[in-house]
Amino acid sequence: KTWNQTGLTSKVLDTIKKLNYEKPMPIQAQALPIIMSGRDCIGIAKTGSGKTLAFVLPMLRHIKDQPPVVSGDGPIGLIMAPTRELVQQIHSDIKKFAKVVGLTCVAVYGGSGRLFVCTPGRMIDILCTSSGKITNLRRVTYLVMDEADRMFDMGFEPQITRIIQNTRPDRQTVLFSATFPRQVEVLARKVLNKPVEIQV
Ligand code: AMP
Repeated sequence: KTWNQTGLTSKVLDTIKKLNYEKPMPIQAQALPIIMSGRDCIGIAKTGSGKTLAFVLPMLRHIKDQPPVVSGDGPIGLIMAPTRELVQQIHSDIKKFAKVVGLTCVAVYGGSGRLFVCTPGRMIDILCTSSGKITNLRRVTYLVMDEADRMFDMGFEPQITRIIQNTRPDRQTVLFSATFPRQVEVLARKVLNKPVEIQV
C-alpha cells in the first residue's frame, strides 16, 4: 500500500513526505481507510507500530469537516491516553500535522482548541472542577481511547465511562490496545458501534 491509497489530503501527504515516512506501516495501511470512512474501529497494536497516526490523521479530517465552532463549544476530537508522557507524545505527533491543516490542539489542561489529548483523570478534573465552565464535551464526535488495556490496569474505567457519557452518542469511536482482555472487550461492545477489528 502507498500513502496515496489512504485518502489523505495533499497537505497531509506533503508533511508525511517531509517526515520521510516512505510508506504506511501495516496498522496505518489497514486502519486509515476504515477510520477515514467513518467506521468505528478496534486496533490491536503495540507502541512503535505507528498506531498514533492511524487515529490522528483521520481525526484531523473529521474535525475539518465539521460545522464551525461557536462560542461555548468544547473540542470536537478527544483522545484519552493512560499517562502524561503518552499524552505529550501524542500531542507532539499531532503538532507536526495540525498546523498545515489549520487546527490547534490542547494537551493535558483545559482551554480552547478543537482537539484535546488528556488522561482520563485530568479530563474528569476539568469537567468537575469547572462545572462545564472551562470546557464541555457536547461537541465531541471523534473519540479515541489509546492503550485502553493500560488505562484499565491503572483503574481508569469509571472515569472513562463517565467521560464517554458526556460526549455525543453519534460520535465516531476508535479504540487502540496492545492486548484485548475481557474488560476492554466489554467496554468496547458498549461504546463502539459495529466496530471493524484489526490486529497487527
Ligand atoms: P507509534 O506506534 O504511533 O508510537 O509510532 C512509532 C514511531 O514511528 C513514531 O516515532 C512515528 O514518528 C514513527 N512513524 C509513524 N508512522 C511512520 C511511517 N509510516 N514510517 C516511518 N515511521 C513512522
